[in-house]
Amino acid sequence: MDTVSLTGKELAAAINADTKQRAAALTETGAAPRLALVVANDDPASAWYVNSLRKAAERLGIACDTVDLGADAGVEAIRAELTARGADAATDAIMLQTPLPAGITLDDVSSAIVATKDVDGVSPLSLGLLAAGLDGFVPATSEAVVELLKHHGIPLSGRHVAVVGRSNIVGKPLAQLLLAEDATVTVCHSRTADLAAITSSAEIVVAAAGRIGLVTGKHVAEGATVIDVGTNEAADGGIVGDVDAESVRGKASGLSPVPGGVGPVTTALLMRHVVDAAQRARA
Ligand code: NDP
Repeated sequence: MDTVSLTGKELAAAINADTKQRAAALTETGAAPRLALVVANDDPASAWYVNSLRKAAERLGIACDTVDLGADAGVEAIRAELTARGADAATDAIMLQTPLPAGITLDDVSSAIVATKDVDGVSPLSLGLLAAGLDGFVPATSEAVVELLKHHGIPLSGRHVAVVGRSNIVGKPLAQLLLAEDATVTVCHSRTADLAAITSSAEIVVAAAGRIGLVTGKHVAEGATVIDVGTNEAADGGIVGDVDAESVRGKASGLSPVPGGVGPVTTALLMRHVVDAAQRARA
């Protein structure tokens, strides 16, 4: 079987074109939409990601402040910065980078991000709104998976989707979004007894575990669609996903590439959320 490459570049470009127009319209009537990126690490992968977000914002006419609190920042300092940005009328959107300093989890600090500016949907309030099916910002990566599937014309209603990974920022919110699309969802994790038995019974498999090559041909049914969310550092310094593309290609009907699949759509949706937040704040 020919495996179609489910790329995200076209979709990201379409979202970005719209975001750019909306950002320009907001700038004309006042100030450019403004995103605050709060960083508390010295991780090279995070620095690379922050830089790519800054460039994406610049291309779209979104102002971007990077607030570097240092890798030894404490819970109070991080919460204070998030709270201050929440109260700052000039800041439309807030994103907290991970990893956080050793010993600090997202749960320790994310409640300090006000929901109206929480453009990556990480705060407990945003996650609760999503679980309840109410309006709020949803985590961009999870939303990107659903948008990528829709863009490529893959139906979700009534279909069995296996999600590998149950983190609060990818797996769990993705399961909620898929349920809202009337899919039947199985969420797998590191204690799942027989991963291959479950994933190979699904029509769509989403790999979001952060494990290189976890999903192989034996995990995938003939003709299934596979979305690779993983962004792992390869031995050569490049980025590789969670799917062993070689063994899945020829068996799956579609596979999203890494890089170039979920990643560009995630960034585009984040920037769209920034403009959404700015528009609502100024309405
Ligand atoms: P986490 O480490 O927070 O969660 C990983 C999840 O995978 C956990 O639920 C874990 O299970 C599960 N898991 C780990 N090993 C296995 C295994 N052998 N079998 C089944 N399940 C397993 O990662 P994130 O959710 O933050 O990220 C997941 C991946 O997505 C990473 O590669 C990350 O880089 C990538 N990512 C990509 C983005 C993009 O825009 N493309 C954005 C955000 C993340 P358990 O709960 O039992 O520990």
